[in-house]
Amino acid sequence: MEQLQSMQPTQYVPSNAPVPDGPIVVERGSSAQEFAPKLNRGAADVVRFLLEQGEMVTATMSLADEQMELFAMEVGAELILVDPGQQEEMELQALFDDSDDADEAQQAPRPPIVTIMGHVDHGKTTLLDKIRSANVVAGEAGGITQHIGAYQVTKNDKLITFIDTPGHAAFSKMRARGAGVTDIVVLVVAADDGVMPQTIEAISHARAADVPIIVAVNKIDKENADVQRTLSAVAEQGLIPEAWGGDTIVVETSAQQGLGIDDLLEQLLVVAEVEELTANPNGRAKGFVLEAQLDVGRGPVATVLVDKGTLKVGDPMVAGAAWGRVRAIINDRGEQVKEAGPSSPVQVLGLSAVPQAGDEFRIAPDDRTARTVADSRAQRQRLLSQRGDARAQKGVKLEDIFTQIQAGETATLNLLIKADVHGSLEAVTESLRKLEREEVKAAFVHRGVGSITENDITLAAATNATIIGFNVRPDRKVRELAEAEQVEIRTYEVFTNSSKTSKKR
Ligand code: GDP
Repeated sequence: MEQLQSMQPTQYVPSNAPVPDGPIVVERGSSAQEFAPKLNRGAADVVRFLLEQGEMVTATMSLADEQMELFAMEVGAELILVDPGQQEEMELQALFDDSDDADEAQQAPRPPIVTIMGHVDHGKTTLLDKIRSANVVAGEAGGITQHIGAYQVTKNDKLITFIDTPGHAAFSKMRARGAGVTDIVVLVVAADDGVMPQTIEAISHARAADVPIIVAVNKIDKENADVQRTLSAVAEQGLIPEAWGGDTIVVETSAQQGLGIDDLLEQLLVVAEVEELTANPNGRAKGFVLEAQLDVGRGPVATVLVDKGTLKVGDPMVAGAAWGRVRAIINDRGEQVKEAGPSSPVQVLGLSAVPQAGDEFRIAPDDRTARTVADSRAQRQRLLSQRGDARAQKGVKLEDIFTQIQAGETATLNLLIKADVHGSLEAVTESLRKLEREEVKAAFVHRGVGSITENDITLAAATNATIIGFNVRPDRKVRELAEAEQVEIRTYEVFTNSSKTSKKR
């Protein structure tokens, strides 16, 4: 009805002043009060016009894009809608245009950042604890290490950074937000249990991120440990041990008894050297937020991982929609430090609000820029959540594939396949491969047997994949997460005695 009304001639009589020539730049979410003068009109003109279209707005309310466009059309103006703070945002991005990264002389080796993954109960937490207690230099605070989300150890005078949250869920959640904060994955496989579903998931997550994997065959102290059998199962997943002529580094460990830890650390340094991990330690810092919370006494506390540059006390920081002058920097041993270089995890105090895990942080040239960028991001977040499309900017999906093909580009459709049994998984993969064309390739980010899980959603979100389920269906929680992450799930039921396939959503 409202739609129809808006089609009919309106009573609106525009005031006579001519509208400015050429496109008019307007910030999204402007109010009538801010928007109207740019078109040589008063706020009341806008409010009245929209009212006649059946839209109730006040002079100070944020207008939707369509509302502004409708009014612009009415008065014959051409609009360019930009996101608020875009200008400052662009200035800040330009400061980190990576041009200095091309300068070899500025690059220096940096510690590798390691995430431990593997099936539940295979010993990830025990391994992290053991590495920490055996290798962290005791700090002044009585040698008690702080759990801040990551820690560093020293081996052969070199540093290694470990992310303190084991598993691939957090890893892919960070990746889904654009934060690739892992250089090497240690895949823990218990020798008494072998390759299990989450082992395979972890491999898929690490591969999707193109991160090298070191295999730690753990629990070798157990009576029923079978290293050879475990290794053949690992090899079946495409990780062929070096001893067998492949290129996967394997270390045998007992996290509980502290066996093989030194070997593991040494191998990590070897991989780090091969990967030639470097960063420019000079200049303004940027990096990612690992975790953040509100501390009663200290205010917002964020653990960040420095990517490049050196973070210093007093720096004006923007982290997501939070900003602030860095008041204090605390390392993983609870010591206050003045600065932090590449790959070091530190807690930062002084932010105006609590950023989200996975948010990028950057050091702005001054407080004003930091504040403007953060404020405009906060405003944008509010707007987007009001409109219920908080993640609208994200996602290259099926529709985009068609646009890409039309533009003559090769498109890759990322797929995550889950099926009830191994047979149907293979059959489905085969059929999908046959459907591949010159212009459309299918990439399988993960294939697995079993129901569609929350981990599948995070992996799909991180890789822009569409999930296809055969004879398996996601439960309500998983569907909700998929909706929030804008991950498309298609489920099919395959009847083995006919080719009938029914699509269900
Ligand atoms: P996570 O779920 O992968 O983090 O596994 P945990 O580190 O919590 O370990 C699960 C259980 O296995 C715990 O009871 C550990 O004590 C035990 N465990 C871990 N590593 C070893 C090991 O090398 N040998 C033996 N015998 N037990 C281990």
